Amino acid sequence: MRVNVDFDRCASSGTCVRLAPDIFEIRDDGYLYLLNGEPDDSRRDDLQEAVDSCPTEAISLSES
Ligand code: SF4
Repeated sequence: MRVNVDFDRCASSGTCVRLAPDIFEIRDDGYLYLLNGEPDDSRRDDLQEAVDSCPTEAISLSES
């Protein structure tokens, strides 16, 4: 599974960070960073929730 983030759309709301802090991180510069772009399938539920919860629809999942 691959995690895709459209960084131009990201508003740094932090919703995805709260759901999956092993995958997403907001750093001191205020920008979102992807820590793991190809996570294990066991993270699918939280990542799907992040996709559904992102206020700017910046996250998508695809099969790698
Ligand atoms: S939930 Fe969406 S807008 Fe918020 S930090 Fe994550 S990618 Fe950015």
